[in-house]
Amino acid sequence: MKIPLTWRYLLAFYCLGALMGMSHELAHHVTGYAICGEWGFKTFNNFELAQGCSLAHPQSFWLATLAGPLLFNYLPLWIGFVMMRRANSGTRLFGVSLVLSTVPALRIFSVLKSGDETWLVYHFFGNDTLALWIMKACAMALILPPLILAWKTIHNRYKPLVYGLLFIGVPITVFYLVGIVLEGLIIKDHVLSDTVWGMPYMVLLAEILASIGYSMLKSHLWHPADDKLSSGSARTIAQMS
Ligand SMILES: [Zn+2]
Repeated sequence: MKIPLTWRYLLAFYCLGALMGMSHELAHHVTGYAICGEWGFKTFNNFELAQGCSLAHPQSFWLATLAGPLLFNYLPLWIGFVMMRRANSGTRLFGVSLVLSTVPALRIFSVLKSGDETWLVYHFFGNDTLALWIMKACAMALILPPLILAWKTIHNRYKPLVYGLLFIGVPITVFYLVGIVLEGLIIKDHVLSDTVWGMPYMVLLAEILASIGYSMLKSHLWHPADDKLSSGSARTIAQMS
């Protein structure tokens, strides 16, 4: 299966990556609301529970931290894994796109440094080195197989470049635009920083724009480059008959 290196595909992939990143924080935020009964605060990179929530709900407030990576990293990684094993090349293209849109490079960095997973280990086991290493091993066992299968599924001519573009190139530009530029506008410059449901207007605006972009372009995530010829010739044959 060949990745179609068209601007439409890359833009669709960009929108999907932005949506996955924002949905990760949204999952923290909405789960926090479900537990606490009131909204906390979220930007593009961070979330906070409503004040006093962790003391009021000590048994369950940690679920808000778990929800982000579980629902918008590990789950889509494995949905993508299943899709890449299907015979249909369009399904395999979407599987590859889904896996790499979760920005696994950032997840690996987060697992190895200090992200949600590390927070959960500290919460349950304190500063326990063994628990930390077990978490890292389990997280890598969940992240690496979909990445390896994505590598095997891509058959473009310059595979390392294409894989690198989707694994690190596009995600870095998503992270730069959303996680640094737009985040800085909210935090430092207070642009559209008033909130509704604990979310700055800037976050809502970006979510709406990425959703519109994705819904307009999503069909391009289902048509591999090597399918164009066959579907084109099928159409020609249909027209001739
Ligand atoms: Zn998170």
